[in-house]
Amino acid sequence: MHELSLSYATVESVLESIANLDACRVVSLTLSAGELSGVSIEAFRFSFPIAAAGTILEDAELIINSEPVSVFCRECNQTSPLVSIQSFRCPLCGLPSGDIRSGEDFLIQSIEIETAEVTQDEHTHS
Ligand SMILES: [Zn+2]
Repeated sequence: MHELSLSYATVESVLESIANLDACRVVSLTLSAGELSGVSIEAFRFSFPIAAAGTILEDAELIINSEPVSVFCRECNQTSPLVSIQSFRCPLCGLPSGDIRSGEDFLIQSIEIETAEVTQDEHTHS
């Protein structure tokens, strides 16, 4: 199952990127799933909790934005989102374009964390 291994890889790279931040919990995780990335958002949502279990990502809110495919058109000198991934044509002038500029990747957009200090503060105030 592709999405499960992707979930494990995502958890790993999140942990790596916040390794120096003294995080005690990941509050939310925002991902961008390109329409051409081949990732099923539904399947990812299902497998992510399995990969996140026992880590500080366990209770993280998972936000997945579907990123449309956009192509660059030389004629219009502009990058525009495709009307349909069935047709690789510039939506402005209709010329075919295979110059894909977005929508191919599965990326981590942002990570919201809670640090140990914040928790201590909350504890003091309550
Ligand atoms: Zn064009």
